[in-house]
Amino acid sequence: MADETEVKELVALASRLLARELENFDFLGHVSWRQGDSMYIKGRHASVGSMSRLQAKHIMKVSLEGAKLENADWDLPSETFMHTEIYKSRQDVQAVIHTHQPLATAFACAGRPLVPIYHPILSKQVFGEKGKPLPVHKTAELIYTVEQAKALAKTLRDRNICLIQGHGVVVVGRSVEEAALRAIALEEQARWNMLALSIGKPIAIPAAILKRARDATVRGRWNYLVSLFDSK
Ligand SMILES: [Zn+2]
Repeated sequence: MADETEVKELVALASRLLARELENFDFLGHVSWRQGDSMYIKGRHASVGSMSRLQAKHIMKVSLEGAKLENADWDLPSETFMHTEIYKSRQDVQAVIHTHQPLATAFACAGRPLVPIYHPILSKQVFGEKGKPLPVHKTAELIYTVEQAKALAKTLRDRNICLIQGHGVVVVGRSVEEAALRAIALEEQARWNMLALSIGKPIAIPAAILKRARDATVRGRWNYLVSLFDSK
């Protein structure tokens, strides 16, 4: 298990990085990282402010029942149960990210399936090796209650991404870095789908090619994106 300061710093870094990489993430949305039977998540946006300036002090330890485990000044995000119920239903998941990223969400809003369309490795990172359509949670209601969160976890099932119609997306991973890169890759796939739709019919990359593609490496791309913070 990672040191608590390292955990908080990584959750804050992922938040700052996603604020830069994903439109509409800066104020709404959240990253969490499971540690045993608890998780670390940022305070509610109204109390901690812009994601682009998030620091370790804005991240707090929360039980999987949704109770603060430390004396933090911040309120819990209103959709905290979205995280806790996914962790409870998926032992393989170590990180949960919720965003309102517009391009991927627009496909759920339109009731139109996204297809794996660009780059086998990046497509596999989003759709999995079978290239199956992403599950869509068909309610725009915010996830305020345990019951609503359980229903979302059920729609996500064993996948790594669930689109939430009229609302946003939830993305999971085995690490914060993996989940963050997957959320970015999802928005890229949505952009390519829109480009293809604007000039014709999107052609899905066949499952056989996705299956042969290697899994996306996380460390190199993560370090590259983090390095951009220093270059501007
Ligand atoms: Zn939301």
